[in-house]
Amino acid sequence: MNPRQAPCNKADLVGQLTAHDLLHENTARGRGKGRPAAVLSFNPLRLGAVFITVTDQTLVASAVDLDLRVLGQVTAAPPHESDNAAMAACLRSLIRDTAAIFAPRAELCAIVCSMSGLLDVGRETWCVSARWPELRNFHLGAALAGFNCPVWLIRNLDAELAGLRLHEGHGAEETALLLHWGHGIGAAYAAGGDVVNRSRGRFCEIGHWGLGNGRGLRCNCGNTDCLETVAGLWSIQPALSAEFPGLPSSESGVTAHLARMDLRESPVVQIALSEMLRLTANLCRLLFPERVILTGPFVQNPEVFSRFVQTLDVAPRLRSLDRIGSSRRRLLELSAYSSVAYSTASMLRHGLRRWMSSALLKSPLIVSASALL
Ligand SMILES: [Zn+2]
Repeated sequence: MNPRQAPCNKADLVGQLTAHDLLHENTARGRGKGRPAAVLSFNPLRLGAVFITVTDQTLVASAVDLDLRVLGQVTAAPPHESDNAAMAACLRSLIRDTAAIFAPRAELCAIVCSMSGLLDVGRETWCVSARWPELRNFHLGAALAGFNCPVWLIRNLDAELAGLRLHEGHGAEETALLLHWGHGIGAAYAAGGDVVNRSRGRFCEIGHWGLGNGRGLRCNCGNTDCLETVAGLWSIQPALSAEFPGLPSSESGVTAHLARMDLRESPVVQIALSEMLRLTANLCRLLFPERVILTGPFVQNPEVFSRFVQTLDVAPRLRSLDRIGSSRRRLLELSAYSSVAYSTASMLRHGLRRWMSSALLKSPLIVSASALL
């Protein structure tokens, strides 16, 4: 059959999907006589998405196939002073290198950017990131238009919370607060069955709440005396290294160390912890979450984690609710997987529908098959 001919029955549709390598047809050898049975299998490597997220000062790009498997990763570390043009060049190179991980016939059908800072999701714009202060209103959609596939933005903590809600089976109406304490400090909040402001890309920039402590410490967002100036890993790492020589500087590197260290005598950590506890308690009085999820390297330390639990337990207005559940993300891989899976699954479905509509001629059969995806 001519692969550009509109299919009119199921056999034609299977023929076209096989011709386009989305289905593989194998012959099963039976013992009996007669025509051997054909076995169809889905080819998850036919289309793929590139998922990009931020860790420390590094962009991490994953090549994800239709089975949501991460086939490989490529990283890039744009300099702190990168502006829009430098970031655009870096991202394009990163995406090209990541897409090269796919098999030669695979097509890129979606780019998902799970970024830190403030986003304008509707305008495909990365507005501000404290990690790269020269970046301002960076139009990701325009910068990546050359790849000719949809670009989707989501705040990294929103993606993580949305993925965790699905993975851990949170109740539809359950409210949950995700609080990340690491290189930067931020939060996401789910209520009413969804992550609040997910479609806008801006919420809970708690790392840049002003402490008003009069220290005059410059934050990497441009303001002074933000919470991150006394608690963000990027700001306290030099002092931590002075207290604990040899401590790695990156969030991923420091995690295992902090989990084993005795931090009770560390003035740096105790000041940071006291501010984090005060903020978390106040945030709980504002949002009244039924579940609190703490992530990042500091809460992997048992003493630090227990201080969070004690603080939440004794908060008088929360005690009356008696519904706070605190959980510590020991398995960082789980949250990373949830984030990738949540963010790329819907985009891959969208990309597959788009591909089927363009690669195959439109027919009622194609339309109905696409609708099932
Ligand atoms: Zn700040």
